[in-house]
Amino acid sequence: DYPTVKSGQGRIFLVDAGDTLLGPMSKKSQEEAYEVLRKLGVNILLNTLVKDYVEDKVILGNGETINSATLIWASGVIAKVAPGLQAETVGRGRRILVDQFNKVASTDNVFVIGDQCSMFTDEKFPNGHPQLAQVAIQQGKLLADNLTKLQNGEALTAFKYHDKGSMAIISKYKAVVDLPKGFFKGFFAWIVWLFIHIIPIAGFRNKGKLAFNWFWSFITNDPTLRLIIRPEDDAHKA
Ligand SMILES: Cc1cc2nc3c(=O)[nH]c(=O)nc-3n(C[C@H](O)[C@H](O)[C@H](O)COP(=O)(O)OP(=O)(O)OC[C@H]3O[C@@H](n4cnc5c(N)ncnc54)[C@H](O)[C@@H]3O)c2cc1C
Repeated sequence: DYPTVKSGQGRIFLVDAGDTLLGPMSKKSQEEAYEVLRKLGVNILLNTLVKDYVEDKVILGNGETINSATLIWASGVIAKVAPGLQAETVGRGRRILVDQFNKVASTDNVFVIGDQCSMFTDEKFPNGHPQLAQVAIQQGKLLADNLTKLQNGEALTAFKYHDKGSMAIISKYKAVVDLPKGFFKGFFAWIVWLFIHIIPIAGFRNKGKLAFNWFWSFITNDPTLRLIIRPEDDAHKA
């Protein structure tokens, strides 16, 4: 498909400011991810900050540079600014600081749930909860109950995150799964990832369509969407 790119010429660098891959996951998952990517030939640079990207050069915090015409920036999400709140209620990543009931400090009736909030009152998560769908879902359900209780003048229930586990795909056919009491990896973990992510898709038809699309991509190894641009001379010769 890409005649101008000679096989084995490309290099992939994974630059991360943290001291490990998959920061929020278990040590076993972190080590597995590192090993799998290393074996695939990825150059992993940990404890390394990306400072800038200028004229096809990635400039690192230590002053070194990597020549690259392609940069994929995946350094996480940042919350939207919520104007009107006091500055001290906004924490890291612009997340709004809330108490154990998801209520914004120094307000009576402003509640924030999910990715947009940071809560430090949950014993098992003293540094706040990970930005995951389950956290948002569980906080949403509890807040709905708590709002009814508030209306009825009853005592509110504090939020405690029930961690059902987390998983990550680390390469084709390989994943890692952290359960509250256990860990598994490899092809089986990859299959489990696929099933778990199909289950919440709404409607049988959508589930079937997604499963088929995945299956087709996996067996053909051929992305159907692509844009191939050749230098003008080559295009005329072809
Ligand atoms: C690429 C990616 C992959 C992820 N993979 C996983 C995963 O595998 N498993 C997992 O558990 N989590 C995953 N997450 C995280 C997960 O998506 C979030 O934790 C979860 O969606 C948080 O839910 P939320 O309701 O807080 O926010 P969101 O789901 O982001 O919902 C917020 C909504 O508010 C809307 N909105 C924003 N501003 C306004 C406004 N001013 N007015 C009206 N609407 C507004 C947005 O459009 C959005 O629809 C992933 C996130 C990303 C980005």
